[in-house]
Amino acid sequence: MKLSLMSKARILCVAVAVMALWGGAASASGEVNLYSERQPFLMDPLLKAFTTETGIKVNMVYIKKGMLERIQAEGANSPADLILTTGFGNLNNLLQAGLLQSVGSPALSANIPTQYRHPDGLWFGLTTRARVIFTHKDRVKPGEVTSYEDLAAAHMKGRVCTRSGKHEYNISLLASIIAAKGEAAAEAWAKGVKENLARKPQGNDRAQVKAVFQGECDVSLGNTYYMGLMQTNDKEPEQKQWAAAVNVVFPNQKDRGTHVNVSGAAVTKSAKNKENAIKLIEFLSADTAQKIYAEDNFEYPVKAGVAASAVVSSWGTFKADDVLLSRVAEQRTLATRIMDRVRFDN
Ligand code: FE
Repeated sequence: MKLSLMSKARILCVAVAVMALWGGAASASGEVNLYSERQPFLMDPLLKAFTTETGIKVNMVYIKKGMLERIQAEGANSPADLILTTGFGNLNNLLQAGLLQSVGSPALSANIPTQYRHPDGLWFGLTTRARVIFTHKDRVKPGEVTSYEDLAAAHMKGRVCTRSGKHEYNISLLASIIAAKGEAAAEAWAKGVKENLARKPQGNDRAQVKAVFQGECDVSLGNTYYMGLMQTNDKEPEQKQWAAAVNVVFPNQKDRGTHVNVSGAAVTKSAKNKENAIKLIEFLSADTAQKIYAEDNFEYPVKAGVAASAVVSSWGTFKADDVLLSRVAEQRTLATRIMDRVRFDN
């Protein structure tokens, strides 16, 4: 068969196009191994969207507890490329153990505000949550509790509930007070709150709101997304009653702002799929994923311009403490010592 010059050119064009497609797909695919403290119900839709967009397969292992110990034990052979945690405390523990590597990316710098990522790219916040005060709607008068400092004041004697002082959320809050006011003031605060407790620290953030609902105490400390999870809880509708009993108070609006924590991501030192790991963090910090986080778990997007969910927006807007979380993280060890010194949980 004799082909005209035109036909030969066409065949060549098609062949080149097919090769380009195949080559493009190959370079954009591959996989990434993710160790996640964040639950599968939340991550599944996000990871599916990532694979659809990039062709990169994500192998996720859900690790509820013991992330640090597991990666340490696996050493250089750890399959983990990327880690997702529920707070910057755990990211900082991984960093201090020498298990993370620095990564740079213009997209991450653009999407994530400076205060919510490590200055050397060792970890990145992906969502924020405020540590607020839940106050009983009747038993706490408007203006009676407006700051973390109020929880340690004389008028709150016997009225405060909280989970363990050693829980990472409370350690991070105390670390932020050290960063703002120094060690002595932070210790006086922790001691004051302990003296105002209605009961020994116990249970999780939601259990405190239940205690306020039941009249054991008047105020409690908790993360914002728990309010959303209670307000919309069709599986355990009694939680809607707990939530309905309290107001959300964003502390310290007249001074440094409310303490926020982040859920975040970091690339491991031993990552074999580093480029894909960076692509996944970039994806999680961009609009599509930020919207899913906001709608599915009542968290605040880190990326400017992405709206919070309607439930979250109903609590009002607030000023967040804009201290660098990497600076707060440096105070966590001291915060733990202070909680021990004041015997917060005893
Ligand atoms: Fe939590």
